[in-house]
Order: sequence, then C-alpha cells, then structure tokens
Amino acid sequence: MLDRNNELDAFDRDHFFHPSTHMGAHARGETPNRIIAGGEGVYITDTNGRVSLDAFAGLYCVNVGYGRRKIADAIAAQARELAYYHAYVGHGTEASIRLARMIVERAPKGMSRVYFGLSGSDANETNIKLIWYANNVLGRPEKKKIISRWRGYHGSGVMTGSLTGLDLFHKAFDLPRAPILHTEAPYYFRRADRSMSEEQFSQHCADQLDALIVAEGPETVAAFIGEPILGTGGIVPPPAGYWQKIQAVLKKHDVMLVADEVVTGFGRLGSMFGSDHYGIEPDLITIAKGLTSAYAPLSGVIVSEKLWEVLVMGSDRLGPIGHGWTYSAHPICAAAGIANLELIDERDLVRNAGVTGAFLRAELDRAVGGHVHVGEVRGDGLMAAIEFVRDRDDRVFFDPSEKIGPRIAAALADRGVIGRAMPQGDILGFAPPLCLTREEAVRIVEATAGAIGDVFGR
Ligand code: PLP
Repeated sequence: MLDRNNELDAFDRDHFFHPSTHMGAHARGETPNRIIAGGEGVYITDTNGRVSLDAFAGLYCVNVGYGRRKIADAIAAQARELAYYHAYVGHGTEASIRLARMIVERAPKGMSRVYFGLSGSDANETNIKLIWYANNVLGRPEKKKIISRWRGYHGSGVMTGSLTGLDLFHKAFDLPRAPILHTEAPYYFRRADRSMSEEQFSQHCADQLDALIVAEGPETVAAFIGEPILGTGGIVPPPAGYWQKIQAVLKKHDVMLVADEVVTGFGRLGSMFGSDHYGIEPDLITIAKGLTSAYAPLSGVIVSEKLWEVLVMGSDRLGPIGHGWTYSAHPICAAAGIANLELIDERDLVRNAGVTGAFLRAELDRAVGGHVHVGEVRGDGLMAAIEFVRDRDDRVFFDPSEKIGPRIAAALADRGVIGRAMPQGDILGFAPPLCLTREEAVRIVEATAGAIGDVFGR
C-alpha cells in the first residue's frame, strides 16, 4: 500500500496538471495531495484508508451519494449494449431521448427542449450562442450583451469564465471579454449601505441592473444570467423580493433570462428546480452536476418553448444549426442520468434536502452562530455557509492573507469532515449529498464547532 502511494504521489507531482490548484506548490510537494479511492453514501475513503464525511458532495454534485449500484449497473449495461452513437442530424439513443423527456417533465412550466453537453461550462457556452443566434434570427443583431453578477459562477471557459464574476477566474487570463458585463451581487450581508432592509437592497440591485441596461442601451443587451442562489461566490440566498424585482427590469427591456441551475437543479434547495423555488421564469436553464450526480459527465440547456420557436425559425431560414459536440447526449451519461433521476424520486431526496437542510442550518446556527467571529450563518435547502469576520458588530472582514476560511476548512478536514473554503472571502461552505441524515448533519455541526475552536482558540 505504501509503495503504491509513494509511486502515485510521485506520478501526481510530476505529471498531473490539476485544475484550481497552486501549480508550483503542488509540483514541489509543498501542499498535501489526497488520492481518493472509494465512497459510500456521504463518506469517501482515501488511499491511506482515511474516511471523511464529504459535506460538499465532491463539488456539490454527488447528490445521491457515493457507491450507488443502480447507477453503476445502468452505466455498465449501456456500455455493453451501445457505448456510443452521436446525436447529430437527428440521431439519438433510447437513453438520451428518455432522459430529455424526464428532464422536461421535471422542469418549470414553459420549458420544452433539452440540448445535452458535458459540463456546466459548455452548457453556458451553448446558452450564449443560442441567445446570439436567436437575436440574429429576430433581426436585432446589435442585441448581444450579456449581464451576469459579480460573484456569480458560470464556468471557466473563455466566455463562461467571463460570465463568472470572481477575480481568481479572471486574473492573468485577459478576462472578462466583451460583450459580458457585470452588475451588483445580491449579497445582503456585504451591502455597502447597512441601513437598507432586504427589500430595499433587492430594489437597489434591480435599480443598478436597470441603470446598466439603460446606460448600455437596451437594444444592445440580450440576456441576464444568474444562479438562483449564489454558489461558488459565497453560498448566498437571494434577498427578499430579489428575483421578482430583477425580472420586472428584464421584462421592461426585453432581456432574456438564463437561470444557471448547475448546482440547484434536481433538488438541492428542497425543490426540483431553484427557479420554482424562487419564482423565476427563465428562457433557458443550465443543468449539470445533479443531473447524473456526477457518475458521468453530462450537462444540458433546457430551452423554453418560446425560444425554441425562434430557433426553429432560424433553421427554417438558415439550415441545420451549426452547433454540437461529439459527446452531446452520450448514451452512457444519459443512462447514468436516468438511473440518477429515478433514485432521487425513489429515495425522496428532494424532500430530504429541504427538511435535513433546514435542520443542518438551524443546528449550525445554534452551535456557532453566536461565536464572536461568525458574521452570518446562511443558506437554503442543503446549501449552507458560515461567513467569518474579525469584528461582528462593525462587520470588519479579515485580511485575506490570514487565510481564515482555508484554515478552518483544513481544521475541519482534520476532524474528518469536508467543507469548502469558498474562493472569495472567509466563507466555509456546505453542500452535502441530498441523502444526508440528521445524525450525519449533527456530525458536521460538531466537527465545525470544533474546527472553529481549533483556529480561534476556545
Ligand atoms: N454554473 C454553476 C452555477 C456552477 O456552480 C458551475 C461549477 O461549479 C458551473 C456552471 C460550471 O460547471 P463545470 O465545472 O461542469 O464546467
């Protein structure tokens, strides 16, 4: 075992280019690596035999939990029967067709078609292209700008990395690119004017958006994209009235709405979709992670019937749409998706996400909400975050060089629970598998309280 670990460690340091990793420190062996070997339910095991409770479900994606035989069997059966055929020029497989139907059945009303990709990033690239295509078909070629929010996360491609509103994903990549614009993050805890109520702050965000659209010229602004609840930007639920006020602005200026539900799709908030949860009526919905619980890479764009009709006009005029990936609607991934969605229903995981999520947040609040360095405990469904501050009353943040968030996440990992130090701010995030039990939630809370004590002293 040790030899194998030494060998893997050497290969890893010498050859494996990891995403979102300090490249030099990793290659030089200055930062720890961890090689994961197995998983069962909410637990993962590494090659040293250490077991951890994964309270972030990988990257908030292993929604049904690890080790589900049903999905593994579906993948194997599909691979034996037909590992691949493409979806171009009207081709398909039973799995991809059935999955498209299952997604639309679960989607908010008004949605009618699913375009399949492989990652949340490529699905958002598809969104941008469909929006541009539609506006060309509608004879308004100047209406192309897309507005996202600071702290939004929509991927790390060229255009999707531009949509993302986090410094880390722009730095030294010459991003963001035109025609992407950013507006105020719906982050009530960090609002500049602390005298504002939630409703007032939501109105302020809507006013900012309105002003940006007017300044740019509504005839040049095509779409607005947002996650129903900010995810990677800090796990921040929308302030009261936010989506209603934002949608009123979008309607006024005839701007399309993309709901990026890569994290929230398929149950994480205790509703099948975040759009239904918050009363959002999107033109396009991005899905990925929870679609297969990451048992296979699969994403999608759910298109509203209204937009679909415009796209159809386009191909009637221009011919087949020039957009597609070799692996679009890959049958192995689609088979994983079907088994996964069935499992979500069979195990009543959407309801559990709501109930156990509320329990987890209440217990976190009870255990650490009063700590002098805890500014806020927040979340919705099975998404929770604790934001740390130097001074609670004056809301003074720590200097990033103190690395409070990463240190607490590391202390938590030492206690056998994986949370995530969110990339911007001292924020500890949780998004466990939707099968989380109350006992497992209690374990997360106890370890978190312990980790906070480890870093700040008792
Ligand atoms: N959109 C959201 C809301 C996400 O959280 C993510 C990934 O975390 C993405 C898009 C990008 O997905 P992927 O990493 O599969 O490209």
